[in-house]
Amino acid sequence: MKLVVATHNEGKLVEIKRILNEEFVEMSEHIELVTAGSLGLPDPVETGVTFEQNALIKARDVSLRTGLPAIADDSGLIVDVLGAAPGILSARWSGVHGDDKANNELLLKQLEDIPDQCRTARFRCAAALAIPKGCGETELENTLWKTNGFETVRVGEMVGRLIRVPRGENGFGYDPLFVPDNQPVRNGIQMQDLTSAQLSQEEKNAISHRGSALRALLPELKAMFLGQTK
Ligand code: IMP
Repeated sequence: MKLVVATHNEGKLVEIKRILNEEFVEMSEHIELVTAGSLGLPDPVETGVTFEQNALIKARDVSLRTGLPAIADDSGLIVDVLGAAPGILSARWSGVHGDDKANNELLLKQLEDIPDQCRTARFRCAAALAIPKGCGETELENTLWKTNGFETVRVGEMVGRLIRVPRGENGFGYDPLFVPDNQPVRNGIQMQDLTSAQLSQEEKNAISHRGSALRALLPELKAMFLGQTK
């Protein structure tokens, strides 16, 4: 069965696919990940005021258009000293949607006078799953899904702080400015100051807001694709 990943953001797509593929090893023969872009679907207008609302809007839109189960995430950076901004405006903080360089430059400027100990921040991700009426592998547990469809949303966070000079080539968005509290151990050595753009994809997925939110959807995905209820 197909599962549509409802995003047009390349950076996020790479991460979402990888996280799902890692978690779906046992399900790889049951699940085929396709993207909204490859199906030529438009990006819906995100009219929500929370990550959760926008994730649901995106997943619901794709599942209604295709009749297939869809997964979507909405995410962003929450900076404490900015009163939780840029939040849901993270992708277009500088005014141009998806201009990571301009977004990072503006954020650095805004935090110029803020001392190191006050530069705390976190990434937040809401991951939504929308299953349209009629989908589902099992007769018993999914009867309700088959009749009514199903929607759910889960949230994950990655806590850290913002530095003054970007570091690292991996990831996307604000990754070069963000040092997660939860640092990896490499060759037995506890890392201290790596930005999320200096982490490998596996290291980031293990601790990231997106990894946590998507993994929290696993029970529903397993029920959906394998008929497992636990
Ligand atoms: P969305 O596409 O509306 O969910 O916007 C997400 C935006 O938040 C991205 O364009 C980035 O600016 C930022 N963002 C979300 N997750 C991450 C991440 O894992 N690393 C860096 N930036 C992120």
